[in-house]
Amino acid sequence: MFVRLTFCNLRCSYCDTEYAFYEGKDLSIDSIIQEIRTYNCSLVEITGGEPLFQDESLLLMKQLADQGFEVLLETGGSLPVANVDPRVKIIMDLKTPSSGMLKKNLYENITCLKKEDEVKFVIGSREDYLWAKEIITNYNLNEKAEVLFSVVFGKLLPVELVNWILEDKLNVRFQLQMHKFIWKPEVRGV
Ligand code: SF4
Repeated sequence: MFVRLTFCNLRCSYCDTEYAFYEGKDLSIDSIIQEIRTYNCSLVEITGGEPLFQDESLLLMKQLADQGFEVLLETGGSLPVANVDPRVKIIMDLKTPSSGMLKKNLYENITCLKKEDEVKFVIGSREDYLWAKEIITNYNLNEKAEVLFSVVFGKLLPVELVNWILEDKLNVRFQLQMHKFIWKPEVRGV
């Protein structure tokens, strides 16, 4: 299940969760966990917006892990991940040129990643792809974490990206925003 926290310090060109910038309601950590328990699901992903913008998200993740949940964190990669509980699986973006947020990438974060964490590139053009390839090499990313490639929905065809990956025999995992193929792309809460 997803816990979507309010606000983001970035403004990616392709953002599909702008409603998370300001919508939402104040909840205590206890009430969030209580709500999570009603779903009978042991896998919880903390996302946003940018979850790390709220310091209390660290405590929320810790308490969830203490209570036996498998916890994932989805973060935009511009804020430090060093204090994230080690039991949490980090899924961290590195923002590509077409996002307009390239300068916000905090590359020091790479040294904090565990092998089971994931670095995600959302690719909208050939330029983004070539940039991501270079970053993988420069930071030896394949040795540090799992690498995910995904397309900017509606901007780059999945088949184009997959063909580039196959041509270059890249050691990356291709992923789709599955919910946009199952439901209408704009449907929320799925
Ligand atoms: S980091 Fe995520 S939520 Fe924030 S602007 Fe970029 S795509 Fe939107």
